[in-house]
Amino acid sequence: MNPFRRPLIAGNWKMNMGGRDACELANAVAKRTRVNDRVDVVVAPPFTAIAAVAHEVEEVRGSIDVAEGFGVGIAAQNLHAKSSGAFTGEVSAPMLRDAGATWVIIGHSERRQLFGETDEGVAEKTKAALEADLRPIVCVGETLAEREAGQTLAVVERQLRAFMGLLATSPGVGVVAYEPVWAIGTGRVASPQDAQQVHGRIRELLAEVSEELAEATCVLYGGSVKADNAAGLLGEADIDGALVGGASLDAEGFGGIADAAQRLALALAEESEAESEPDAVPNAREAEHEVDLSPAAFAGEADLSPETFDTAEAEQDAYSAAANDEGESAPDVAASEAAPAEQAAAAGQGDEQQAPDDEQPPDDAQADDAAPAEQAAGDDDGDAADDDGDAADDEQADDAAPAEQAAGDDDDDDDDDDDDDDDDDDDDDDELATEVIPSDEPKKK
Ligand code: PGA
Repeated sequence: MNPFRRPLIAGNWKMNMGGRDACELANAVAKRTRVNDRVDVVVAPPFTAIAAVAHEVEEVRGSIDVAEGFGVGIAAQNLHAKSSGAFTGEVSAPMLRDAGATWVIIGHSERRQLFGETDEGVAEKTKAALEADLRPIVCVGETLAEREAGQTLAVVERQLRAFMGLLATSPGVGVVAYEPVWAIGTGRVASPQDAQQVHGRIRELLAEVSEELAEATCVLYGGSVKADNAAGLLGEADIDGALVGGASLDAEGFGGIADAAQRLALALAEESEAESEPDAVPNAREAEHEVDLSPAAFAGEADLSPETFDTAEAEQDAYSAAANDEGESAPDVAASEAAPAEQAAAAGQGDEQQAPDDEQPPDDAQADDAAPAEQAAGDDDGDAADDDGDAADDEQADDAAPAEQAAGDDDDDDDDDDDDDDDDDDDDDDELATEVIPSDEPKKK
């Protein structure tokens, strides 16, 4: 992290928490993270829950003491590039704004891999988001095969170049998320040093557009981030936050990641203040927030709350305890060892992707909230073929060449790989340590 960029911790709930369970989680997250006033906290529920979650976090804000500067932002997980029209089943940027979202995740590897999203489509969506005043969190990242072929930096560069110029109109509004595909949902996290190498390269590339863009843009790391590994990653100079999947389904675990960012932000602010005023004596408040960056400190309970939050603290503990009862959602390394079989299952069955629902029996309220439409959509969501069709329409209906339209999802992926070869940058990649990683397929959450 860096003292001049506000850290962002974003939770991608994927295809989980679509009804009342979303409000409960949002409520717990808002309460758990309300002391993290130096961090932007964002949650990304499914479309069906965006409006309800936006309402819920506002309710929490109005009902308890929150730190000045605190707020939970709402992100969508996808959008259509057009603002309206005959695009059955799609949701546009203005609609997301109306529902209460102010952010949107674009080009997540699951969308690229499973729904055929292309670099070109990602750029169109990024443009649409910015035009509608939605802050895009645009994802890039290499697959395991690409990493092993020494193409990590070339792939990330190709993906970034497709949209980075669009971010120049309002530096700092757009966010880039580097998510190595092999680290998503696997429990295998990139080492801070490897992640920093890619993040540093992303910032160099942004600097080609403008120094201002490079300085202002938050670059997140994503892929098996948890409370116990967040501090190490966020301690790197060009890692400004995290995009969190599995661990974001648990308010306590997600809160622990926000705490790590808060601690580092406080430490960096103090450091930079001390540098600008070398003779200044720390005042009592600064001393109170003196940050212990040792691993032991991160393993323990974060003490981040100013005195004013005493009452709220007690409530937070109650909510934290409740959240803990739900258990840790993020997959662990042991789970990743069994990955190949799971991947095969996941590839064949869309329903496999929503494992956490197994622990969450269908909720009546969910039916109340979004009844017929959501139920109908529930069946379709697991059907990759439907979504694939949409994806092809999304990006390509108006502009793309017929050959590309004819190509299915797999072809899109292949296209991407082919492009990689063109952009090869193997020399740089050699420095990236190649761990033995079980797979590059997205795992179930
Ligand atoms: P993960 O997912 O934290 O479960 O690895 C990250 C993501 O997909 O954004």
